[in-house]
Amino acid sequence: MIKAYAAFEAKGELKPFEYDPGELKPLEVEIDVLNCGICHSDLSMLDNEWGYSRYPMVLGHEVVGTIAKLGSQVTHLEVGQTVGLGWQAGSCQSCKDCNRGDENFCSDAQYTIIGHHGGFAEQVRAVASSVVVIPDGIELESAGPLFCAGITVFNPLIQFSIKPTAKVAVIGIGGLGHLALQFLNAWGCEVTAFTSSEAKMAEARELGADHSINSGDADDIKAAANSFDLIISTVAVK
Ligand SMILES: [Zn+2]
Ligand SMILES: [Zn+2]
Repeated sequence: MIKAYAAFEAKGELKPFEYDPGELKPLEVEIDVLNCGICHSDLSMLDNEWGYSRYPMVLGHEVVGTIAKLGSQVTHLEVGQTVGLGWQAGSCQSCKDCNRGDENFCSDAQYTIIGHHGGFAEQVRAVASSVVVIPDGIELESAGPLFCAGITVFNPLIQFSIKPTAKVAVIGIGGLGHLALQFLNAWGCEVTAFTSSEAKMAEARELGADHSINSGDADDIKAAANSFDLIISTVAVK
């Protein structure tokens, strides 16, 4: 049995819950959870904001842990290895999207907290290909967000072939945006943060922004027109 915390109703409190995960499938791994972040999507699922939540539900999809068990066909991971698990806990491994490395588009994808129990637990299971080995030297207590918020804002740099000479802006300096600023700074880009909060402007500079623009100031926004190679919007509003 796996011990976890589950929500039993929409907007409900998380309470102790145990479930039987069944036999470990050949391509799966079981992870002993060390740390797990909280993402806004956990709250959306908890509150049934998207209309398809099913309870009891074990949330948590920014998991850091160690491999506890390996399925019989998993050969690229080892028991005891430190790994991360994000939004996706599995994909079919055989469709056109999976075969070209776009597993996130797989129509048979298994999501970590939808119809599957997540990381607010002692253990969590996932298809081995969804698990990322964490290199030595990463602070494990704070690594969890890299696997959801982090990959979400890192992906555009690859998708749009962003070069270190590019000028990139980030709208919204929250869970995703604060990681985007750090990645872009490390990538070498000239980074601009759009935020409506004066306090966050200073913080944005500390995180790697070269410039900051008040997103509530129409003149500042107008003045910045056509000056970016890419704008990453992390806000959930128009
Ligand atoms: Zn998330
Ligand atoms: Zn697939």
